[in-house]
Amino acid sequence: MGTYGRFPIALAKGDGCRVWDTDGREYLDFVAGIATCTLGHAHPQFVEAVSEQVRKLHHVSNLYYIPEQGELAQWLTEHSCADRVFFCNSGAEANEGAIKLARKYAHTVLNIADPIILTANASFHGRTLATITATGQPKYQKNFNPLVPGFDYVPYNDLAAIEAKIAEHDRNERRVAAIMLEALQGEGGVNPGDAAYFQRIRQICDEKQILLILDEVQVGMGRSGKYWGYENLGIEPDVFTSAKGLGGGIPIGALLCKESCNVLKPGDHASTFGGNPFVCGVALSICRTLETENLLENARERGEQLRGGLEAIAADYPETIAQVRGWGLINGLVLSADTPLTSIAIVKAAMEEGLLLVPAGPKVVRFVPPLIVSAAEIDRAIAATRQALTRSMS
Ligand SMILES: *Cc1c(COP(=O)(O)O)cnc(C)c1O
Repeated sequence: MGTYGRFPIALAKGDGCRVWDTDGREYLDFVAGIATCTLGHAHPQFVEAVSEQVRKLHHVSNLYYIPEQGELAQWLTEHSCADRVFFCNSGAEANEGAIKLARKYAHTVLNIADPIILTANASFHGRTLATITATGQPKYQKNFNPLVPGFDYVPYNDLAAIEAKIAEHDRNERRVAAIMLEALQGEGGVNPGDAAYFQRIRQICDEKQILLILDEVQVGMGRSGKYWGYENLGIEPDVFTSAKGLGGGIPIGALLCKESCNVLKPGDHASTFGGNPFVCGVALSICRTLETENLLENARERGEQLRGGLEAIAADYPETIAQVRGWGLINGLVLSADTPLTSIAIVKAAMEEGLLLVPAGPKVVRFVPPLIVSAAEIDRAIAATRQALTRSMS
């Protein structure tokens, strides 16, 4: 339907952090399918898991027990604060599930007839009707009204604003039932959450029985250098969602929660494809490879190397670059407000230099390479970024 503004290349082949277009031109892939290809392209463990699982069993529906689904749920609950998992097929769908869970919790546990879910400005939660409503960016909502009722918005990392908003709804007797935030805002500009802000929100949620939902779709599954973004903030959510990196590039989403808020019962929520043997078998191999190849440590070390290199570039171009920010292997090069340069111009120039990058808004260039990225590849990406910047300023 022509819904995408695309870059003028077609990709035909990949290996590790490299991809080749249909003309045979090689690129270093620091997009990784938008933070999804955890192990890069054609990783032996991934190829093996995919082939083995389709030979064995790929889909049967949730009418039956699925051993791979149980094993993946077990891995996820052992490596997070969650006790329960629901599997679906995308990030938006996982967040839809979180919204349904929050509403049922509000009705059945909190006795709130008309619950409000607070989300942040500049957030991104997906493209379904409920998740564009949750997304605090009017550009994604334009022309799709009427939106879903029951949402309100606050500026991100602003404690006074969220306290005032909760108090305002208390006065109007439309209580806040849940707060849904990204631990680090991805699409909204690679903006990390502030630990003190999130810790105070955790306290408020405990005091008022508000559910704290974290959207970990982009930052979770090791990308931040920890399994989950919330580990960088020193808190635990009641509910969180995962998708992008979870399947290493195959479509899977997950809604996870603590036992204390596990209100969904048989018949409440379902998905035909969700959690089938194929996606769960593959995701399980991604999870295990994170451990066997020490990819969290790699994400931390390579991330530090990347930020160091980008900061050196920033120091040379103080008028153009305002900031380098991020965690692990999700990082943003933030352009200054007064430069006429845009993130898209730099992404295009980087492509000419053989480096694939992706904008996160008009002024932030995002770096989300596979978690297997090597030190040499980081160095090449830094050099290509410097070239791209020089090229787009001349
Ligand atoms: C990408 C993204 C989504 C939406 O995921 P889809 O799989 O595209 O539906 C939701 N939340 C965050 C934080 C994301 O980065």
